[in-house]
Amino acid sequence: DHPELDLASLDKAYDKLDGEEHSTFPELEYFGQMHGTYLFAQGQGGLYIIDQHAAQERCKYEYYRIEIGNVSSNQQRLLVPIVLTYPTTDALKIEENLDKLADLGIELEDFGKNTYILRQHPTWFKQGEEEEIVREMIDMFLNDDKLTVAKFREKTAIMMSCKRSIKANHHLEEEQAKILLKKLSTCENPFNCPHGRPVLVHFTSKDMEHMFKRIQDPHQTGFDDEL
Ligand code: ZN
Ligand code: ZN
Repeated sequence: DHPELDLASLDKAYDKLDGEEHSTFPELEYFGQMHGTYLFAQGQGGLYIIDQHAAQERCKYEYYRIEIGNVSSNQQRLLVPIVLTYPTTDALKIEENLDKLADLGIELEDFGKNTYILRQHPTWFKQGEEEEIVREMIDMFLNDDKLTVAKFREKTAIMMSCKRSIKANHHLEEEQAKILLKKLSTCENPFNCPHGRPVLVHFTSKDMEHMFKRIQDPHQTGFDDEL
């Protein structure tokens, strides 16, 4: 139900992020939410409409990018280890990539018969979704023979940011919305989600004046008596 979570779109997102630039963000004054999906704010530059999922995804993505890069003793032990069994062809690929998985803190223990055991995981994993996350990470290798550690790290950050962000149709309290906009303003690139979709749409005061025909088009008549 969330198309951005498939592997093909992860790939596209990764490619786009390669050429990303840094930029400055306008000062925003929040004034409302629409349909549990869009946040409205005004600033000196005019009206800003923000996609709350894309905004949070961007914030989380920048957070995960750092967290995932910090592999150390940062591990959470599982009470019940995760047991993963794969077909032989997949197991061979996993075997080839065990070191790359370990580079991100996923230490799969060989349990024979194409089976692996995971006893602990990085702390950025979401509780209750450990198996789903590790399976999706393994899928990245099964679907891409040339996956580098750098790309693996990046794709995992994109995947996690999407998973952990509020979806549409979710009411935000005014305070939560303001905090989200504040966080967004501190992002390296607040203008796009990691999949390349826009986080905000901007209408300048000029745009608004045009929309409401407050600015006279010299070729047009009929609005002369209005002010
Ligand atoms: Zn998403
Ligand atoms: Zn996205």
